Amino acid sequence: MPDPACRAPDTFYHRTQADRLARPALTGTVEADTVIIGAGLAGLTMALELARAGQVVVVLEARTLGYGASGRNGGIVSPAFACGDSAIARRVGEPAARALHRLTIEGVERLRATITDLGIASAAPCPGVLHLRRFDASADLIAHAEAFARDFDYPLEYLSRDALREMLATERYFHGLRDGRAFHIHPLNTLRGIAAGIERLGGRVFEDTPAIGVELAGASKTITTPQGRVEARRVVFATGGYTGALVPRLRRAVLPIATYMLMSEPAPELLAGVIKTSAAVLDDRRAADYYRLVEGGRRLLWGGRITTRAASAAALAQQLQREMRGVFPQLADLKTELAWSGQMGYARHLMPQIGRMQPDVWYCTAFGGHGLNTTAIGGKVLAEAILGESDRIAMFAPFGLPWAGGPLGLAAAQLTYWALQAQDWWRERAART
Ligand SMILES: Cc1cc2nc3c(=O)[nH]c(=O)nc-3n(C[C@H](O)[C@H](O)[C@H](O)COP(=O)(O)OP(=O)(O)OC[C@H]3O[C@@H](n4cnc5c(N)ncnc54)[C@H](O)[C@@H]3O)c2cc1C
Repeated sequence: MPDPACRAPDTFYHRTQADRLARPALTGTVEADTVIIGAGLAGLTMALELARAGQVVVVLEARTLGYGASGRNGGIVSPAFACGDSAIARRVGEPAARALHRLTIEGVERLRATITDLGIASAAPCPGVLHLRRFDASADLIAHAEAFARDFDYPLEYLSRDALREMLATERYFHGLRDGRAFHIHPLNTLRGIAAGIERLGGRVFEDTPAIGVELAGASKTITTPQGRVEARRVVFATGGYTGALVPRLRRAVLPIATYMLMSEPAPELLAGVIKTSAAVLDDRRAADYYRLVEGGRRLLWGGRITTRAASAAALAQQLQREMRGVFPQLADLKTELAWSGQMGYARHLMPQIGRMQPDVWYCTAFGGHGLNTTAIGGKVLAEAILGESDRIAMFAPFGLPWAGGPLGLAAAQLTYWALQAQDWWRERAART
């Protein structure tokens, strides 16, 4: 059998993963209560919840565990959806938007609890996320923190410019909010720990096993793979930004959007003089960058930028480097050792797509750029629906599976991103003059 590790992407996380256990490809026929397609955080979270309830689960992964966005991301676990709260409120009203936001907080806690319960030490959770502003206006930030304390009993600490300078040696930021309940992790190790947890409960995870055919009409569903098949009572599609043509309706509903990260060379002394916090950092531009120290401060991971067409990660890394040097000129000589990209799945409404396509055929996709907490709660809510434990899945019904617009949708997404970049630039410039 070919070694699946050879087909894994080359990222910081793959280079530092806690184990390199390769799962076999499926051969022959297996039976399951539920077959889940896609071994990202959405698929594996759900598989874990179902296995905990005693279900026989089988997870099929086309490539390697965490091959998709879940094994390549920034590792920042914080509340919220990829879609802003005010856009959600416009669509479903304030009370429903608040209830949805509460779910995202629950998602953060759920992932934290999963890491603790399964004893995934290599996830290395580290507390603290800073949301920083690059221009001089603070009233709305302070009001935001007050609203979060009032509406969600969720503490956000305001940080002045002086407080920020203690943590980050840059003139770039003016104000910030510290979220002490948010945290950051090694996402691939987290995923590996969850897969092991599923297997301890009798579930099976197959790598190198793309679902290539589906028969969804009868009471028993059949999923065909190159060397085998699964017969199951129900099917869940959790294929994120890697959703292919298997189920055309799903494919049409998800736009794959690429985003990029770089890993610096080891430079602990240089970095310690510049970034004096172990918290992850996000700026609050609409086209934001994010970064954090890893390996105990030896290296910097920096992420940002989106494209709707595959671009070379190396070329995009140069843009990220320019951005990094704009914030920290002291890092001008810091070399990039590795750059990579990953695909996020976006729906037209920017919200996750969690629901039922037909009896016993479910989907759990489109978590966009805010998937660590939302896959945790999305998988939980869908498992509750399958098990008949709750109807919380109905909260996602107003969003559904609309057509994402195909090539036109991609062009619109790229134009929107460029427009947001221009607005960010203008906002900063206007605030400085
Ligand atoms: C570079 C980057 C940085 C990010 N940073 C953050 C961050 O800091 N915080 C945050 O909250 N979110 C972040 N995100 C977003 C987050 O990673 C995603 O929203 C989340 O991981 C999506 O998980 P998923 O399980 O839905 O999809 P994925 O992890 O993409 O998993 C889908 C899987 O399905 C498999 N698949 C597809 N088709 C088939 C098939 N036919 N048969 C079998 N398997 C199939 C794929 O191979 C893939 O492994 C980032 C994303 C990227 C790309």
